Amino acid sequence: MLAYDDRSGKMTTEPERENLKPCPLCGGTLEDTPAATIPFVVKGCVVIVKEAPADICDQCGHAFVANDVAGPLSELVRDAVSRKTELAVVNFSETLVGA
Ligand SMILES: [Zn+2]
Repeated sequence: MLAYDDRSGKMTTEPERENLKPCPLCGGTLEDTPAATIPFVVKGCVVIVKEAPADICDQCGHAFVANDVAGPLSELVRDAVSRKTELAVVNFSETLVGA
């Protein structure tokens, strides 16, 4: 992931992900969670994604995922919703294996 460094004025690679980051929604602490369980509600369908890497806010519980995770994650949710089940539980890490 690229980040802009104010001090050097150069694009740099982002330093190691820190465990303590403020939540952009509520200012709470984001915790790096390598295998988080994230619920999604789409069109009346509840999709629970397990074992997805995310930063979870300890105050509002919002899950933030990295760009490279967001793609396959939304694919997974869309696929579950398309099956028209009211409740779907999918495992993120399993779907990546052999994909
Ligand atoms: Zn929050």
